[in-house]
Amino acid sequence: NRRFVLAKRPQGMPTGEDIVLKEEEIPQPGKGQMLLRTLYLSLDPYMRGRMDDAESYSAPLAIGDVMVGGTVCRVEKSEHPDYQQGDLVLAYTGWQDYALSDGEGLQKLDANMPHPSYALGLLGMPGFTGYMGLTDIGNPQKGETVVVAAASGAVGSVVGQVAKLRGARIVGIAGGEDKCRYVAETLKFDACIDHKAPDFAGQLKKACPQGIDVYFENVGGAVFDAVLPLLNTKARVPVCGVISQYNGQNSAFTEDRLPLLMGTILKKRLRVQGFIIFQDYGEHYPEFFKQMSQWLSEGKIQFREDIVDGLENVVEAFRGLLSGKNFGKLIVKVAE
Ligand code: NDP
Repeated sequence: NRRFVLAKRPQGMPTGEDIVLKEEEIPQPGKGQMLLRTLYLSLDPYMRGRMDDAESYSAPLAIGDVMVGGTVCRVEKSEHPDYQQGDLVLAYTGWQDYALSDGEGLQKLDANMPHPSYALGLLGMPGFTGYMGLTDIGNPQKGETVVVAAASGAVGSVVGQVAKLRGARIVGIAGGEDKCRYVAETLKFDACIDHKAPDFAGQLKKACPQGIDVYFENVGGAVFDAVLPLLNTKARVPVCGVISQYNGQNSAFTEDRLPLLMGTILKKRLRVQGFIIFQDYGEHYPEFFKQMSQWLSEGKIQFREDIVDGLENVVEAFRGLLSGKNFGKLIVKVAE
C-alpha cells in the first residue's frame, strides 16, 4: 500500500521532501469494516493550507499523516453489512492506494455512472462551490457583468456557465492562450483575458465596459488589483479562494493597500463575503446535485478534467496545480 505522508511543513511550494512515499502492507478489514481501493484521487488547492500549522477552518495535518483528499473508491473486501465487494463509493481516504473504512462519511455512487470522477469535480465539492458561491452570494441578475478568475478550472468553469444560464454577461480570466481560447469557445464565456499578458489590466477594463457587478474571487494578488477599480457600486464579491497566496507569495508589496480596499468597500458599498462550502452550505448539496445532473444531461454544462495517471506522480501534479499547470479539474487516476 503506497501512502504519501506529510514529512515536514513546506516553505513556499511543496516538494518531494515535504511529502514522501511510505509503503506498508495492505490492511485487512475487521468486523464492520471494509477495504477500499482508490480509483480516483482529487487534488485541490485547499490541501496546501492543511500542510501549514496555522489556524484555519479545519485542523492542520500532523507530521506523518497521510495527505488528505476526496476519492472515488471500489469496495475490495467487505465485512460491513451495508456494503458489498464491487460497490463504488465517494470517500475521503487521501493520497494512498488502499484504506479501511467503517462506512462513516461514505456516499454510495451508482456503479454504472458514466463518469465516476465527476463525483470529485462537476458534481462534487468544486462544482458545488462554484454553484453556491455564485448563486447565493454573487446572485447575478440578467445583463449584469460577472468576472471569474481561474476560469478554465474546476470551480471557475462552473461559476461562468451558471452565470451565463442566469442571463449574465461573463468574463473569464485565465493563464495563457490555450486556456483563454477554451473558456471563450467551449465554455462560451463572452470574453476571456490572459492574466499573464503585459497589458492585462487594460484588456480587462476593455472587456468590462459596464464595470463589474459580481467578482467571484479565486486567486487574489495581481488579478484582484486589476479588478478592484472596475467594481460597480453594490457589486458582490464572493471570496472563494486566494490561490496566489497559498505558498506565502505576494509579500513583495511594500505599500499598505488596506486603506484603498476599505475605502473602496465603503464608497462602492461592496458586499465582500468569504465562504467555506460544506460548513456554510452542506444542507444544499442534494438540490445542487439534482440541478447540476440535469444540466449535464441536457448538455448545458461542459466540464474538463486533467487526469494524471499513477499515484507515483501525485506530488508533481499537486505542484502543478499551485502554479497553473493543470488544465481543468485535476484528478489522479490511481487504479482501473
Ligand atoms: P483550479 O482547477 O482552478 O486550478 C487552480 C488554478 O488556479 C490554476 O490552474 C491556475 O489557473 C490558478 N492559479 C494557480 N496558481 C496561481 C497563482 N499563483 N496566481 C494566479 N492564479 C493561479 O482549482 P479549483 O477550481 O479547485 O479552485 C479554485 C479556487 O477555489 C481556489 O482558490 C480554491 O482554494 C478555491 N476553493 C474554495 C472552496 C471554498 O469552500 N471556499 C472550495 C473549493 C475551492 P490559471 O492558469 O488560469 O491562472
